Amino acid sequence: MREAIRVATSRGTDPASTPIGAVIVLDGEIIARAHNECDALHDPTAHAEMVAFRRGGASVANGNNPAGEMRGATLYSTLQPCGMCTMASIWAKVGRVVYGAGREDVHRMYFEARHTDTLAFIADAYRDDIGIEGGVLRQDCAALYFGPDDAVGEAEQGNL
Ligand SMILES: [Zn+2]
Repeated sequence: MREAIRVATSRGTDPASTPIGAVIVLDGEIIARAHNECDALHDPTAHAEMVAFRRGGASVANGNNPAGEMRGATLYSTLQPCGMCTMASIWAKVGRVVYGAGREDVHRMYFEARHTDTLAFIADAYRDDIGIEGGVLRQDCAALYFGPDDAVGEAEQGNL
C-alpha cells in the first residue's frame, strides 16, 4: 500500500486531481503500478486499477494464459475501487482487493450518489472468488483526498 501511495503522489498531491494509486502483487512481486490516466489517454475508463490490470495482464500473459489472468494476485488501491474496477477484479481473476480510504473517509465528490456501493454486492456475490478488505493505511490514504467535511468548490469537484 505504501507503494500505491507513492504512485498516487507521483504526479503531485492536489486532492482535486484525485491522486489514486494502484499496485498489483503476485507471488510477492509487484507486476503492475498505475495512477489514474483518464485525461492522458482520453479514456474515461482508465482508472488507476484498470490501467494496472492492463499492465499486469501484459506482464503475466503467456501461452497457457493468453488473457493475462492474474490468479492469486492482490490489487492494492489507495481509494475504495468503484463498481467498474471491482467488477474488473473478477475478470482479472485477482484473489484479493485491498484498499486504503473508504467512501466514508473522504469527501463525497469521490463517490457521488450515482456511484452505488457495489463493493458489498460483489464481495457477497463472489465471496468464493474474491476477498475484499478496506482500511489498510486508512489515514495515510485518506490524507491524499479532500476530507468528508472539507468545503470543496464546485469547480474543483471533478467527479460531478
Ligand atoms: Zn474505478
